[in-house]
Amino acid sequence: MSSRSGIGYDSHRFAEGRELILGGVEVEGAERGLDGHSDADALTHATIDALLGAAGLGDIGLHFPDTDERWRDADSIALLREVVRMVGDAGWTVGNVDATVICEAPKLGAYRERMRDTLAAALGTAPDAVNVKFTTNERMGPIGRGEGIAALATAALAPIDGRAKDR
Ligand code: MG
Repeated sequence: MSSRSGIGYDSHRFAEGRELILGGVEVEGAERGLDGHSDADALTHATIDALLGAAGLGDIGLHFPDTDERWRDADSIALLREVVRMVGDAGWTVGNVDATVICEAPKLGAYRERMRDTLAAALGTAPDAVNVKFTTNERMGPIGRGEGIAALATAALAPIDGRAKDR
């Protein structure tokens, strides 16, 4: 039985008066946070979609619709833990996650290890199974103009012995 892979993408606009949370970590001193129904954690949302994609379980909007008051200001790390449970129920364990956060500012490199460790704890993996990268969009387009933050993620899943449905 081979492993499975999935991709995820998310973006959120900056908004005044909100905390900036990425990978479950609050970026201290950020001038603006991100607008969204939940905590708008684009990195965690991209990770969730990568996992759901790899498991063939749809996407984040299917499971946590932004029309549902239950998910208002939701802690996205709690949603990620729920998705890891769903993926496990479908017979898969997380192999690794690789992610890229795209923004012009703020600089996020100082948060790399905390984001990795927070995501790894929610994923149930060792920290070295998670990699978080940062880049700018070279001032091109809406992300390059500083209108928001985007994130990409890939996830690999391995079958739990005897349980993956498509063996
Ligand atoms: Mg989102």
